Amino acid sequence: MKIGFVSLGCPKNLVDTEVMMGQLASRGHELTPDPQDAEVIVVNTCSFIDPAKQESVDTILEMAEFKKRGRAKRLVVAGCLVERYGKEIAAKMPEVDAILGTNQVEQIVAACEGGDPKVAPEPYLYHDGTPRVRATPKHFAYVKIAEGCDHPCTFCVIPQYRGAFRSRRFESVVMEVSRLFQEGVREVNLIGQDTTCYGEDLGIRDGLAHLLERLSRIETPHPKWVRFLYAYPNKVSQKLLDTIAAQDSLVKYIDMPLQHASGEVLRRMKRGSNGDQFLKLLERVRRTIPGVAIRSSFIVGFPGESQQDFDELCQFAEAARFDRLGVFTYSDEDTSGSFHLDGKVGGRDRYNRKRRLMAIQRRISAKMNRGLVGREFPVLVEGPSRETDLLWEARLATQAPEIDGICYINDDNGHPLRPGEMRRLRIVEAHDYDLVGEVVDLPEASFQPMPPALFPILTGPGSLPISRGQ
Ligand code: SF4
Repeated sequence: MKIGFVSLGCPKNLVDTEVMMGQLASRGHELTPDPQDAEVIVVNTCSFIDPAKQESVDTILEMAEFKKRGRAKRLVVAGCLVERYGKEIAAKMPEVDAILGTNQVEQIVAACEGGDPKVAPEPYLYHDGTPRVRATPKHFAYVKIAEGCDHPCTFCVIPQYRGAFRSRRFESVVMEVSRLFQEGVREVNLIGQDTTCYGEDLGIRDGLAHLLERLSRIETPHPKWVRFLYAYPNKVSQKLLDTIAAQDSLVKYIDMPLQHASGEVLRRMKRGSNGDQFLKLLERVRRTIPGVAIRSSFIVGFPGESQQDFDELCQFAEAARFDRLGVFTYSDEDTSGSFHLDGKVGGRDRYNRKRRLMAIQRRISAKMNRGLVGREFPVLVEGPSRETDLLWEARLATQAPEIDGICYINDDNGHPLRPGEMRRLRIVEAHDYDLVGEVVDLPEASFQPMPPALFPILTGPGSLPISRGQ
């Protein structure tokens, strides 16, 4: 059968999509990026906050249209929306033929072939032997090292449907990453709801630091980058920072959502700490890892956030000077702890606070980028620009895929560029979030061009949401 996938939400959900595609391909099914051509369409949904839920429902209805006028005979809905609203989907969306929860990804074959997906015996986590078809460009990959979360953040519903925190086995991650590097992958991004808890449930102290140190020792015929995303602030140990500082292949990049800076708001979020303590942490990170880029994210408009709390957050953002920052307006999820809090902030105030904080960050980012003009850096070549044929795109090690700014290349130094190659770029122009540069070195002599990525994912609106500079 020809099967098409739409993957919504975060990279963790994308890995689930890739595992489901791997199951189907290993059983002889064909993947197609064309919904017109698909006999079965699978929508892997997100339900983190209201806009994500709406996008999932819209995409399901959009794909259902292909059952009416295309070849599609079956529509399967998987992922986080099923975990939260499975009964409602089954009752109110007759277009949907089968639903799969996040622990049932290995039941995708049954769901597509018209069988009855079995209930998962236990919380699911893939391993290095699990068939997987990667949807990212060949030169970078996401590796999920853990699933679930034990933190009590009152605004978040993820633990309700992704379950308790559980790490993958240490050697299983090492095996998978080794294989990816052998396949020519240049950049591996380790992900989980909270990667800094890695190994705690396996009895490994400082598990993430040990894992990173082990991965940095994997021998490869080419340069490699290892990055991790989603650090929890009070889990960022000195051992972790020292490990990153000591190994060249561990990128100098820390992604650490702080969510707020007012002690009172953080108390109501059940996250603790405050802006002063966070500034000390940032100072320790920058002192230990010279040249490190720090990414964070904030929620504005959390119940009870006063104008004074918000001003405190703005002052903190000015002082913290993040290299990358995402700002989200609070979403009042009916099953979250904060749903029951008083002091709800109106939509207009939430919107204006987001705009004000992003304006502060845009100025900081623009100034930081101007400071890079004239300097040279190694970059990972992504490919021809999606915006213009005249330019190619690349990323610094301090620019994570799909969420941060990029580098446009306007001069290839007379040697055609190849996706996945690592080259040296001199920055010649700076924009608020993006940079422009010219290549200053020669092509990698031993570079083996990679076959172009076959995006076996339907490119409907909403699939692979990409936001840059936020
Ligand atoms: S750490 Fe992240 S995933 Fe876990 S509860 Fe908090 S916000 Fe949610």
